[in-house]
Amino acid sequence: MKNIRDFTLEELEILVKDLGEPPYRAHQIFHWITCKGAQSFHEMTNLPNALRKKLSENFSLSLPEVLEIKEDLDGTIKLAFLLEDEEVIESVILPERDHFTLCVSTQVGCAMGCKFCLTGKMGFKRNLKVFEIISQVVWAKRFLKNRGEELPLRNIVFMGMGEPLANLRNLIKALKILAHPMGFNFSRKRLTVSTVGLIKEIEILGREFPVALAVSLHAPTDEIRKTLIPIAYKYSIKEILQVVKRFPRIKNGRTTIEYLLLKDLTDTSFCAEKLVELFKGLPIKINLIPFNPHPELPFERPSEKRMEEFQKFLLSHGILTTIRKSKGLKISAACGHLRAEIQKYLFPNSMNKKTTIRTG
Ligand code: SAH
Ligand code: SF4
Repeated sequence: MKNIRDFTLEELEILVKDLGEPPYRAHQIFHWITCKGAQSFHEMTNLPNALRKKLSENFSLSLPEVLEIKEDLDGTIKLAFLLEDEEVIESVILPERDHFTLCVSTQVGCAMGCKFCLTGKMGFKRNLKVFEIISQVVWAKRFLKNRGEELPLRNIVFMGMGEPLANLRNLIKALKILAHPMGFNFSRKRLTVSTVGLIKEIEILGREFPVALAVSLHAPTDEIRKTLIPIAYKYSIKEILQVVKRFPRIKNGRTTIEYLLLKDLTDTSFCAEKLVELFKGLPIKINLIPFNPHPELPFERPSEKRMEEFQKFLLSHGILTTIRKSKGLKISAACGHLRAEIQKYLFPNSMNKKTTIRTG
């Protein structure tokens, strides 16, 4: 049965027309499944009974089951979800000063095989459907509401499992649903798509539904990049720069260049100088990401001092540069460490205390 959360408003309009209903019914349904968080068609009291019945006979409203919720001391919360085919995906809620940010997954696994990333190591399983992307937001909102949190879920970053632009069609639909003023109403500049740098897809996103863009560059030369990111054999840094320059800037926002700091590989003075050459004068910001170590990953994290020096050098050359706080390290919610496996949840010997949440 098709899940109604897969539909954009435009698609719902076509659907209700086919059912012989007036167009405003689509708006009502859309409103129920987005901001009103409906869990059954029965709740949709402003729809005629016959329509509610027809919808419930033909469509599902179900959400993936929440398998586990883990909270770190720094307030980071990891949610693990069980999908219909028993795959598991994860999202991370990150508390900020005046809002929450949700990091969502777009694929089960990832085909890109970056050498420093655990999701990459697990390989590619499948793309997430639109409703599976949207459901992560529905659950996060519900979770925060049930806990009585007052701060809003304001930002969504597509930095969980998977390469969002490799699931482009579903990503764009999900973005449309999230940004629609009659739906979740997220500002487009607060929806950030992070990509390893799929050039053609970045262009399509920029043309069809531009939101904030973050490009995972991680190295300032093609030579170094190729040792870390296989797709660097296909697309050069020069091509990435061109596409970044052309990408529409939402409300004059800057494209983020994500740059992973790996000890003695990408944290050198040579790399810092090259970065300045590449980006001086461009409307970008560089987000330095401290490497999150893991026994299976053959890299090291630079010292705090080295990372600060690297940042200072870029700042001294007029490049806006931040260092990402590594939240959620204890619960392995940190970037690149989302590698959910069903076995881990079915045989949770080594897991921390399991928590469940009430729905509604
Ligand atoms: N596929 C997309 C989005 C998901 S990865 C992308 O690569 O941009 C999200 C971010 O986590 C990327 O910037 C990625 O490079 C980073 N990341 C992956 N493994 C990491 C690790 N071990 N430590 C720190 N950051 C990592
Ligand atoms: Fe995929 Fe991003 Fe991990 Fe690379 S860093 S393997 S693109 S999820």
